[in-house]
Amino acid sequence: MNNYKITLLKGDGIGPEIVNQAVKVLDKAADKFGFAVTYDEALLGGCAIDATGVPLPEETVAKCKASDSVLLGAVGGPKWDNQPGNNRPEAGLLGIRGALGLFANLRPSVIFGPLKSASPIKDDIIGDNMDIMIVRELTGGIYFGERGRKEVDGQPAAWDTEQYTVSEVERIARVAFDLAMKRGKRVTSVDKANVLESSRLWRETVIRVSKEYPEVELNHMYVDNCAMQLVRNPKQFDVIVTSNIFGDILSDEASMIAGSIGMLASASLSGGKLGLYEPIHGSAPDIAGQNIANPLATILSVAMMLRYSLNQQEAAEAIEAAVAKVLETYRTPDIYEEGLQKVSCEEMGDLVCAQL
Ligand code: NAD
Repeated sequence: MNNYKITLLKGDGIGPEIVNQAVKVLDKAADKFGFAVTYDEALLGGCAIDATGVPLPEETVAKCKASDSVLLGAVGGPKWDNQPGNNRPEAGLLGIRGALGLFANLRPSVIFGPLKSASPIKDDIIGDNMDIMIVRELTGGIYFGERGRKEVDGQPAAWDTEQYTVSEVERIARVAFDLAMKRGKRVTSVDKANVLESSRLWRETVIRVSKEYPEVELNHMYVDNCAMQLVRNPKQFDVIVTSNIFGDILSDEASMIAGSIGMLASASLSGGKLGLYEPIHGSAPDIAGQNIANPLATILSVAMMLRYSLNQQEAAEAIEAAVAKVLETYRTPDIYEEGLQKVSCEEMGDLVCAQL
């Protein structure tokens, strides 16, 4: 029997509540699909600052590296807002991504049928099966390039650098093409090649990598057009692959199309088996400790972990189907609609387990 070692980084705010529900669901899936899971907990973010003085203790990095996969709740909160920038909870988040070499961020934007009305986009534009996967390069580009201040025309000015090497583009392109092979076999590469030299290199490289995937249809889109197309006709997309900064912006736009922040999962991958899985939302300090947070984004992150790191496709699909079924009748307060039953964070976890 496969036995997977998972490190839990519950974090701050609602982090522990939502991770506990996701663990319950993972245990139930393990029972049902015949694999075992062992957990180890480690500190990240504000709770790590309180216990050790730093947001990312060495021990946390070591535990994550020694595991098959990592499940993260969320970090941060007002208690740590006055920490210096490099010692804030969010610095721990960037630190762990760097330490694990997580260069690919996967953000699916999927609408569950019963939640269609939560989307700000009209029903006929979304259709019945909108399912976009945004693959964002996570460790390169302008967020990591050289930057500085200087004087221009006698006044202060500032500059940042967008730079990509061929190998950085090749590896993210391969992640996107591999994913497309398991999905709709279409990749849209988003760049600004009409203006930026870094985008021209990006595009040439993606085209070259695409030759390894003759079954996948590749098209290119400028980022400004993509931002427009996402709300005009989101159904046209299967996998979108793009740079760090463009992906940052487009993935937030795409997540709004899906409606509710409490529903959206994400994965960060290193190319090997190890991945870090987390909801896209933050630690929601305003509702922490009240047992009303929506645990579904974290539960769906577990489904992604099963699919992309643990190779348990059937279990992943079963969790997603269970979530869709439960949503027909039960809702946490953030996605509540009249006529349905309002449930707590814990009850939602139990309902998904029961449905599994
Ligand atoms: P947030 O995502 O925590 O909350 C935004 C709003 O959405 C709040 O009203 C919150 O109650 C609600 N919300 C979020 N998740 C929910 C859930 N699962 N169920 C029900 N409602 C939910 O964003 P914020 O308020 O801007 O940030 C709060 C803290 O989280 C800050 O310290 C921020 O730095 C941190 N943060 C962490 C991450 C992360 O850990 N990956 C991401 C974003 C923000």
